[in-house]
Amino acid sequence: MHGLDDQAVARVSELLKGSTQPVALTGAGISAESGVPTFRSGESGFWGRFRPEDLATPEAFAADPLLVWCWYAWRRAQLAELSPNDGHRAMAAFEQLPGGFTVITQNVDGLHQAGGSHNVIEVHGSIAAVRCSADCGARRYLLHEHNHKHDHNHDRERDRERDRDASAEAVFASDREVARLVAEQGDAAFATISEGSGLSGRLPPQCSGCGAYLRPDVVWFGEQLPLEAVNRAFELSESADLFLVVGTSSVVYPAAALPEVAAERGAVLVEINPEPTPLSDRADVVIRSGSGPALSAVAQRLGLGA
Ligand code: NAD
Ligand code: ZN
Repeated sequence: MHGLDDQAVARVSELLKGSTQPVALTGAGISAESGVPTFRSGESGFWGRFRPEDLATPEAFAADPLLVWCWYAWRRAQLAELSPNDGHRAMAAFEQLPGGFTVITQNVDGLHQAGGSHNVIEVHGSIAAVRCSADCGARRYLLHEHNHKHDHNHDRERDRERDRDASAEAVFASDREVARLVAEQGDAAFATISEGSGLSGRLPPQCSGCGAYLRPDVVWFGEQLPLEAVNRAFELSESADLFLVVGTSSVVYPAAALPEVAAERGAVLVEINPEPTPLSDRADVVIRSGSGPALSAVAQRLGLGA
């Protein structure tokens, strides 16, 4: 709690208590305290040599689907080791507020759900989901098993939802195998995979509807954002009376437009970020600190001990 602006924390608590429709927009910063490597840091070895701009594109997938698939399998394996932090947990607790609570996130890491949030709109997709690359209309598969060490006990509920389709099983199996190869062989893993350890013939897994490759259900560079999620995000931002902007630099559009739309419609704007952003001047309240300490202090004040 040291170094926290108690007055700002108290104001945000009061605002949340009185809000009829509180909404948050989150970005990479809320997951920083969980140790989620950003795109540009903390990666080493063979896979780390690739730049996201080179692999997270439709062109890269068309040119070398196996390479892109394995890069995501490796990232899923890394993420599976991480847990949600106090910031995610506090936001999950905010769902008990009289006005409820919805999170619009630019993150693909699934940590809000792992922290217990139910009302999450993912505007950049989810690394824990895969879908048909030909968009044939076959369902998307959620890879819950790979989605972190849950610290809430809704796992059983999720298990029931889980799709036990053969395609999903193929994804689980390939993730485990890629993770094992990377752990054992480091840099040499990809050569092993492409030279045909038996795995390459089966990767990427194919859509059970049309036979096209499955792909991660994330928004790649140059792609449109999922329309339904974006529409819901804008609708919510228009009707919100309180809008929290947490751990995002607020420069990537269209997500960055959401707080602007909310403010224009009269919402009170709160920024939680250790660094100033282009939005800071427009914010009504600013907590200049990491999201974990800030949000857990707010939750505690509200008696929601997260
Ligand atoms: P960004 O990297 O542009 O900004 C991160 C922000 O978080 C910065 O303003 C920084 O000051 C702040 N921050 C750092 N530590 C923090 C902490 N402890 N608490 C609160 N804030 C903290 O990230 P962005 O705005 O999300 O946009 C970058 C794009 O990269 C997004 O499209 C996102 O989808 C993608 N991305 C996602 C992940 C993920 O899923 N976790 C990780 C990296 C990048
Ligand atoms: Zn298909």
